[in-house]
Amino acid sequence: MNLKKILITMSLCAFVGCKEQHGTQVIAHRGAWKSENLPENSIASLNKAIELGCYGAEFDVHLTKDEVPVVNHDADFEGMEIETSTYQELLKHQLSNGEHIPTLKDYLLQGLQQKDVKLIVEIKTSPSGDENTLKLTRLVLDMVTALEADSMVAYICFNYKVGKLIHQLKPKAEVAYLNGDLSPSEVKKVGYTGINYNYKVYKKHPNWIREAKELGMTVNSWTVNKQEEMKVLIAQDIDYITTNEPEMLVELLNR
Ligand code: MG
Repeated sequence: MNLKKILITMSLCAFVGCKEQHGTQVIAHRGAWKSENLPENSIASLNKAIELGCYGAEFDVHLTKDEVPVVNHDADFEGMEIETSTYQELLKHQLSNGEHIPTLKDYLLQGLQQKDVKLIVEIKTSPSGDENTLKLTRLVLDMVTALEADSMVAYICFNYKVGKLIHQLKPKAEVAYLNGDLSPSEVKKVGYTGINYNYKVYKKHPNWIREAKELGMTVNSWTVNKQEEMKVLIAQDIDYITTNEPEMLVELLNR
């Protein structure tokens, strides 16, 4: 085999390895935090998800009073309501590993140091309603644009209007609906590209995984931490499983 043929063969192998679309992929829920007792949604948990070679690292975003998108699951951080606190005020507290609450910018910049693990942003619903939720949505999209991170980011949300707005502002964005109350065709019509429902929703609506796939949508499930449930979803060729146990799922898929 001459050098040219060897190089073509090598690049084809690399392509198949990186771009393999068949089979279930692992998304670390709030990063990969559990095995090393890291804080959820920390830069350290993102780094661990990258180290594990997950398909994606999921994280949650809220908006501070002074309009800084920050990464945290709950609407409050160490007893301080995020939406009524400034970012500076939130810096009074630390995560258990000594990190400050990450800003969306910090988190994305860290994630953009690599190209293999997708950054799955959950835009949280504001406790004060749609106006702030949609303001946060716009600010997240602006940040992703400013960092030229479109190809590395996918979006998820419980609020139906959020995904609709994302599709209007970024028609090529991947956006999946979390709430589980609507059929695949109902969410597709406003621009969602995927469904990402609780395991129990797929039990209640056994056709929705197949229906979504037939519509060309992606299918994900949260938050699946038991092997038996993972196996049921893998058998249905679900695209992604979001889990607090990424190591367990990686091992299961590699058996
Ligand atoms: Mg989340």
